[in-house]
Amino acid sequence: MVKLRIALLLSTVAVTSSCAGLPLPGSGPAPGEAISQQERQQGAQAHAQLLQQFGDVYSGRQSDYVVRVGQRISIQSGLSDAQNDFTISLLNSPVNNAFALPGGYVYITRNLVGLMNSEAELASVMGHEVGHVAARHSSQRSSRNTIGQLLALGLGLLTGSGDIANLAGQAAQLYTLRYSRQQEYQADELGITYLTRAGYDPFAAADMLSSLAAQTRLDASASGRNARSLPEWASTHPDPAQRVARARAEATERGAVPGAGTRDRDAFLNAIDGMLYDDDPSQGIVDGNTFRHPDLRLQFTVPQGYTMQNGSTAVVVTGSNGQAQFSGGTDSGNLATYIDGVFRRLAGNNQQINYGNVRTARINGLPVGQATARVASGSNQVDVTVTAYDFGGNRKYHFLTVTRAGQGIGPFGSMLNSVSRLSSAEAAAIRPRVIDVVTVRSGDTISGLASRMAYRDYREERFRVLNALGSGNALRAGQRVKIVVYGR
Ligand SMILES: [Zn+2]
Repeated sequence: MVKLRIALLLSTVAVTSSCAGLPLPGSGPAPGEAISQQERQQGAQAHAQLLQQFGDVYSGRQSDYVVRVGQRISIQSGLSDAQNDFTISLLNSPVNNAFALPGGYVYITRNLVGLMNSEAELASVMGHEVGHVAARHSSQRSSRNTIGQLLALGLGLLTGSGDIANLAGQAAQLYTLRYSRQQEYQADELGITYLTRAGYDPFAAADMLSSLAAQTRLDASASGRNARSLPEWASTHPDPAQRVARARAEATERGAVPGAGTRDRDAFLNAIDGMLYDDDPSQGIVDGNTFRHPDLRLQFTVPQGYTMQNGSTAVVVTGSNGQAQFSGGTDSGNLATYIDGVFRRLAGNNQQINYGNVRTARINGLPVGQATARVASGSNQVDVTVTAYDFGGNRKYHFLTVTRAGQGIGPFGSMLNSVSRLSSAEAAAIRPRVIDVVTVRSGDTISGLASRMAYRDYREERFRVLNALGSGNALRAGQRVKIVVYGR
């Protein structure tokens, strides 16, 4: 969340899990058919939007490694023999997710990579995602979930030329929607086939799924669950126990022997040592219902039950009675011209949104301007309110809130009143976490190493999940493990 950019998303209905059906027989090419020109174009169109929504590509040295592994596994799919036909992106996102687009685009978040314990596990997740693409699952799915359908449902606010960008989040949601169970099993099988072909231990897939299931259980029990709305791999890939069992059976069927195949654990641990973990403070952090940005020195709190999606240009807040978007940056005008600019960009070329007077006030010491307009959204009318905050030094930020007509700022009153400066002490307290790979020495214990984890709670549980250490596992000297520590 750094630059000013209007990308209004109006979706008061959560778009989830609308494809529980079976794959449509004969509705796509057989798995492995080469990437078509049309698929290349589809992928290229959505690529930039997805990067923006998922925090952009991680800038650390780990990206090169993930690209290499991703290309090595992706060419096993039959989509293309050329490694460069696959665009692999390590996303700078604190959620655990992976997905792929038609045209050879494969994405994995750094947090999901951090959860893994070998190169083979990394390859297994990307192989699974490429499997969805090779089997053309998204084309089967998008026959039910097209952007056109979303608009027909009245979820889009059609206001002019900016509209295509406005669909960014919805496009991303479409591609990360839940596949059918049959499609998931097929992607698992294809992924395991690719693992085997690339020379990796196919049992890595089952181990990765076990770690993900353990992480999901830990998240569910850990206190202070964040109001994050980006879908996680676990939520779009249900039934982990069943999948672990099937993945083990698949590996056994291929004649693999547990513990015998290539994992490349050391290469993996060397590569990810020092990688950022959880939130990236330079993008702002989500802590419970509060968003804090230590560099921009600002914070706000969203209503209970509402979720935040922290993209690279805006924070989108979504709940049952409306949607809001926070963005902003440098602006040399006054609050009235700033608000006018927001409405103009929202309206797009050659159109106009009529808003009433700009009301002024002070909130937490900040000069604030606010104006509301009634806008047509499909066949419905909505209230669009711009609330702009002057942080001084030409820095202005605003909330754009959208509610049903007649509701004004609706449920967002407390949120709009919560926008405030972050003190230097508060900003300094927000520190990045990184993965530290350490070698166990004789005498080290799980609880001893876990006490170094940079968390207030669940240190040992987090340490065990991060290193796939069950209750029966003990440490041995010389073994390498991951610890999450503060980076500075
Ligand atoms: Zn999947």
